[in-house]
Amino acid sequence: MDGYIHSIESFGTVDGPGVRMVIFLQGCPMRCLYCHNPDTWEPAQGAKMSAEDILRQYDRNRAFYAHGGLTVTGGEPLLQTDFLLELFALAKERGIHTCIDTSGITFAASDPACREKLDRLLQMTDLVLLDIKHADSACHKKLTGHDNAPVLAFARHLAERQLPVWIRHVLVPGYTDGEEHLRTLGRLIASLSNVKAIDVLPYHTMGVAKYETLGLSYPLSGLDAATAADAARAKQIILAAFRESR
Ligand code: SF4
Repeated sequence: MDGYIHSIESFGTVDGPGVRMVIFLQGCPMRCLYCHNPDTWEPAQGAKMSAEDILRQYDRNRAFYAHGGLTVTGGEPLLQTDFLLELFALAKERGIHTCIDTSGITFAASDPACREKLDRLLQMTDLVLLDIKHADSACHKKLTGHDNAPVLAFARHLAERQLPVWIRHVLVPGYTDGEEHLRTLGRLIASLSNVKAIDVLPYHTMGVAKYETLGLSYPLSGLDAATAADAARAKQIILAAFRESR
């Protein structure tokens, strides 16, 4: 089958360990106010590519990926789980390190068919980058349009499976940078026994031009970007709460 691919980055260095081929998949049900990839939102758009097409491209640069691998991101890659099952099966046949960068929003704990399919994919996944947008459900909804219950259920599901996870959190001034929230997030992460790293990413405004191109108004117009120093301070608060509750 074909996947709907927004774009491919051949030499990604921030989406998992080492140098990686990063596949941006099309489609996302979330509407994060700060999203810098609104052009990935619509499903069934972009280029149609098969798993073989992608791995042929991977093989051309294989020497660069010796300590890296393949990361799928988006958009929300788990909207295309059937395609990922094919892609990761072929990747594993070649011994490739596989990583999923996801918000976890599609996790349906009460749907056995969905869980069975997801678990098959997770068996072929070496690392999950889990983006926790906000620790508080009401604030998560304000920020993304969705409750965070599926995200937290997915985080617990990954912990039960002891699948390595890197937590990612975007620091958005006035939305996710409150000290109490960061401490809550630290305690939440401490409750998960499979977390190997925590990344706090400063909010930036580089996606604004895409909204103009798409004829959309930018929801956070006028909000200044966060700095690397802001993100470092926030990470210290998260880590302090993390250590206190361990
Ligand atoms: S989950 Fe990612 S792609 Fe989807 S709206 Fe949020 S930031 Fe954008």
